[in-house]
Amino acid sequence: MRGRLLEEKTGRANVFEAMFAYFLFQYECMMRRTFLLIYCLIFSAAMCFLHAGIFPKIQTKLAPRDSALVFFHGSRSQKSIALTFDACPAYGPLSFDRKVFQTLVDSQVPATLFLSGKWIRAHKKEMEELAAIPFFEFGNHSYSHHHMADMSADSIVQELQRVQKTLFNVYHKTTKVFRAPFGELSSGLIQSVRSLGLTPVQFDLASGDPDTSISKERLVHYIVRSARNGSVIVMHINGRGRHTAEALPAVIEGLRKRGFRFVTIGELFQKPDTDAKKR
Ligand SMILES: [Zn+2]
Repeated sequence: MRGRLLEEKTGRANVFEAMFAYFLFQYECMMRRTFLLIYCLIFSAAMCFLHAGIFPKIQTKLAPRDSALVFFHGSRSQKSIALTFDACPAYGPLSFDRKVFQTLVDSQVPATLFLSGKWIRAHKKEMEELAAIPFFEFGNHSYSHHHMADMSADSIVQELQRVQKTLFNVYHKTTKVFRAPFGELSSGLIQSVRSLGLTPVQFDLASGDPDTSISKERLVHYIVRSARNGSVIVMHINGRGRHTAEALPAVIEGLRKRGFRFVTIGELFQKPDTDAKKR
């Protein structure tokens, strides 16, 4: 008798346990679905913000017809490469990387410097020094260094002409090349740039030199190992490159050991190669 009661109790206990487990299972499924829904909503919202231009838009994929109007690298059949240095707006005593300048001069390495108008305005003395080096080429990096992909054609032309005029009137330099701030290009920007006789220049080897987590050794190893014939390598001369100055002598030595010859972007243009302007 006592045994049957125990069995009944145990049976009832098992039913309760099973029900509890069932509800727990349903609850977990519901929570999983809820979290999935929340993730989907966050992802969709991020995509909407991105599309609306609330986050910086870095356009890496261009339509083939736009891409053909941009210079990414030179001939893949010749061992010429271009070191390029951006001077995005920067102020203060560390905003000109003098060691980078000195290494290039001492090593007699031609380089293309993409200068923003605001940087030029804040570095008159340094500009005189840069302009005096015959193997340096100047490029236009816009006046204000805004996000330009969605700018009106008029504003783009103003941004670029302001730099062209300063380079010509003050430093007696002309430039044929433009690098978009943040590397952001659009069809409209490319058209406006080209309407002024300038070629948009991107790069095929981003050194990543503003990244504080990249050591000098890693920077050297990455650039020397990744460079290819015709490569356009981007670094900074405005103090934003954390280890650029330290790394540059070893970068130059390593690339020379691999047989590369340093040229300006203007010289890379001139190398005949049918697919030189394609990515
Ligand atoms: Zn820049």
